[in-house]
Amino acid sequence: MIHKRILVTGGAGFIGSHLCERLLNEGNEVICLDNLFTSSKDNIAHLLSNKYFEFIRHDIIHPIYLEVDEVYNLACPASPIHYQYNSIKTIKTSVMGAINMLGLAKRVKGKILQASTSEVYGDPLIHPQDEEYWGNVNPIGPRSCYDEGKRCTESLFINYYFQNKVRIKIARIFNTYGPRMHPNDGRVVSNFIIQALQNKPITIYGDGNQTRSFCYVDDMIDGLIKLMDTNDHITGPINLGNPDEFKIIELAEMIIKLTNSKSKIVYQPLPEDDPIRRQPDITKAKTILNWEPKIHLKTGLIKTINYFENIIKNNVF
Ligand code: NAD
Ligand code: UDP
Repeated sequence: MIHKRILVTGGAGFIGSHLCERLLNEGNEVICLDNLFTSSKDNIAHLLSNKYFEFIRHDIIHPIYLEVDEVYNLACPASPIHYQYNSIKTIKTSVMGAINMLGLAKRVKGKILQASTSEVYGDPLIHPQDEEYWGNVNPIGPRSCYDEGKRCTESLFINYYFQNKVRIKIARIFNTYGPRMHPNDGRVVSNFIIQALQNKPITIYGDGNQTRSFCYVDDMIDGLIKLMDTNDHITGPINLGNPDEFKIIELAEMIIKLTNSKSKIVYQPLPEDDPIRRQPDITKAKTILNWEPKIHLKTGLIKTINYFENIIKNNVF
């Protein structure tokens, strides 16, 4: 028996493909919508033969009419290299994409979840970051197309709730990693693993003392689904991430050790507006969703290293 028909925008991407897989395994019908800007069909190839899975190549800046019970709105380039490649398009994807998806959710009276981000806190002045913090974002810096796009999307979501009673959810996702990250998108976990596996220099930007808190993708999927399943009174943003905070230099050392790599660390300039500290306060997620990450960084890194070992061996990138 099919439970729900669910639309996942950005469903061929890193997080989206894991989400599609999980929703299918839980007995749902899944429509995956993606323009394949930062992903490929390889991420969903194993799902294409499932009769409850459908892929639509579409750009969410254009309207689309579908009949679904729920929408997970993940479509948006997520790594700094990808979202800065065509910054105006990134803003359009966030803002026009959200308007289209909110309009769809309103028409079908469905629930809609937005994949927001810890970047709404910018380079935060409070630590750890809780949902009450309004953030410290440079509105004209190189990260602004992404950060302000996502902030505007949150505003759209809450206003569709106030004005039209659309059943919204906002997840503020903190750095997430795992298999199917794009090998060339420049994010720190995939970069370091690929460099280490090839015994190439590990590129630390800045002095490596900046911090991030890394969440394994399976934990993130649990959190996203739990948030979607909350009742209609839960509308405000909820942080989803792993509160274990690491310096980037610690991450590099851990990856070198786990891969038995001969790589040496090299230091390169810190990109403009690169946040110095980031750690989620997940009290709200713990209380409201009864959720917290279970997978430690080392365990998640080993799974991710295995994935990249395979794609390097098979020359898939
Ligand atoms: P990703 O780049 O792997 O996935 C994004 C997907 O969206 C890709 O498949 C891409 O082709 C698609 N896409 C981009 N623009 C589109 C458009 N205009 N129309 C249709 N599809 C489009 O990135 P990800 O890490 O899987 O991120 C998924 C979502 O989660 C994004 O919205 C991102 O902002 C958010 N997020 C991710 C992280 C993280 O650490 N991975 C952190 C915070 C927020
Ligand atoms: N980083 C690094 N070397 C790399 C890639 C990234 O030192 O090869 C740093 C980057 O400057 C940032 C952190 O790692 O401080 C996380 O970067 P990522 O792009 O993964 O995510 P975000 O900055 O969006 O959190």
